[in-house]
Amino acid sequence: MWVITNDRMELGQIKDFCTCEMCEKRGFYEPIITNQIYITDYDKSQRFHGYKFYDNLIDLIKPGDIVNGHKVLQIYKKNILNIRFFEKYLECRSYKSSQPFNLYEKDIKNIVTKEQLESMKYVVERDK
Ligand SMILES: [Zn+2]
Repeated sequence: MWVITNDRMELGQIKDFCTCEMCEKRGFYEPIITNQIYITDYDKSQRFHGYKFYDNLIDLIKPGDIVNGHKVLQIYKKNILNIRFFEKYLECRSYKSSQPFNLYEKDIKNIVTKEQLESMKYVVERDK
């Protein structure tokens, strides 16, 4: 399972759950996440207000995000073989080529959200 903060500045994968005595006492087993996100019983009491959870990484991607270095233009759902199975894919455009191409869940190696990108723009601004 994947988690992203509402401001889309932090995202990570829930790898496991803590089994320490404190968690056991509280009755809330804190998730172990692959980055700086710490979800506690306080967050639970707030109904995880600051986070969104997804089964698939592709579901947290939005147009304007950068995936594997390519800008995501659109997100499509494809109905495979006309049965009740939907596969989502991303239509991306590379900075190197004008031809859009598709990326699937299994292809996703890294993501920079639009919001992270915008915060980085500030870093490279020239001093006035
Ligand atoms: Zn614990």
